[in-house]
Parts: sequence; C-alpha cells; structure tokens
Amino acid sequence: MTTGRPTSPRTHRRVRSRRTRTVLVSVVVAAVLVTVAVVAVLVVPLVRPAGPRPLFQLPVACGETWQLGTYPGHDDYDVDLFPTEGKAWGRPVLASYAGKVTVAGINGSLGGRTPDDPNGPRGRGGGYWVKIDHGGRWETQYLHLLEPPLVRVGQRVAQGEQIGRVGSTGNSGAPHLHYEQRRGWEKVEAYFDGAPSGITHDDTEYTVRRKSNNCVTG
Ligand SMILES: [Zn+2]
Repeated sequence: MTTGRPTSPRTHRRVRSRRTRTVLVSVVVAAVLVTVAVVAVLVVPLVRPAGPRPLFQLPVACGETWQLGTYPGHDDYDVDLFPTEGKAWGRPVLASYAGKVTVAGINGSLGGRTPDDPNGPRGRGGGYWVKIDHGGRWETQYLHLLEPPLVRVGQRVAQGEQIGRVGSTGNSGAPHLHYEQRRGWEKVEAYFDGAPSGITHDDTEYTVRRKSNNCVTG
C-alpha cells in the first residue's frame, strides 16, 4: 500500500521540473540573444574607434573673417565666434561638414535677448541649438541660435548648408555662435580647413581670426 505513494508524486515532480527546466533554458537563451543584440546595436558603436577627422569648415559664410575665442570659465575646447565686420544678429550658421541632424531644438531656456532687446532677460544653457552627426563618431554643435533651427531631426545636411541664424538665446551675453567639435563622447580641439584652432583650454582668454573656406555646398 505504501509503495505507490512515494513513486507517483516523484514522477509528477520530475515531469514538472523537466518542463520548468525547458522554460528556464528558453528564458536564458532569449536573455542571451537580447544581450548580444543590445551589445551589437548600442555598445559596439560606442567602443568602436572614431573614424578620421572630417575636413570641417568654419560654420559661417564663405570668405568672411570671424574671431574665434574662449575665456576663463567657458569650457575646454569651446569656441565662440564673432564676426569681425558687421552685426552678428541673424548671420547664417552653416553646417561645418555633411551629416545628419540629431538635435534641433531648445537646450535650457531661451531667455529674451533679441535684436530689439539685446539686453533682455538671459536664458539658460544653449538656447536654440543644433547637433549634427557626421559619422565615424564625429559631431558638431551650434548654440544660441536666434530662432528655431532651419533643420529638423533626422534631416541630412550638406556641408555649407544653412542650419540657423546667429542669436543670443540661452546663457549668452551677446549675439555670437558657440561651437563645438566632438569625437565620441569627448570635445576635441576644433579644426577648420585642416588647421587646428589653437583653442584647447579655458584657462586664459584667447582669440584668433580665421577666414571661412566653407564655400561649396555639398
Ligand atoms: Zn560659448
């Protein structure tokens, strides 16, 4: 009488545990596949070495001379651009190199500095800004634009294509273009037309004049 009791539940348990094991194995396999997919899609592009530096041009009109500068408290490698002739307000901002727009919007807050009210309330952050992905992990950023960017996220732009106008939105003292070149996560020294800008740190005030060779759209 007592012989049947231990065997039957054990058999049931064995069947159930085999099924549980199959489910568990499936879950583990699925988890491994998802992990592999995530690594392939998200992580590999991040750890892959950057491609060669694109031949960036000044983000302003062909033939114009602009002053590039930085000041203590700016940030290493950050470049502020001011025209050497004429007013800065509304001047065209051009793509330094061909690429795909990844940001076109507002960073921080706009504030109220306009051509009609240049000393209006100061905003926060970058104001209207654009970020372009040039491939090979290279990016450029354009801050403090006057108006909503002339490009939208996902749009492909040519080198020299206008993406906005110079303004003073965000945390900006006077109308100018704040500009950055990035390789991977890091800001790097901005190069224009193959030559380094010389702006590598923000320990001291520094300015240099450069003429734009951003002359061919395409
Ligand atoms: Zn700046």
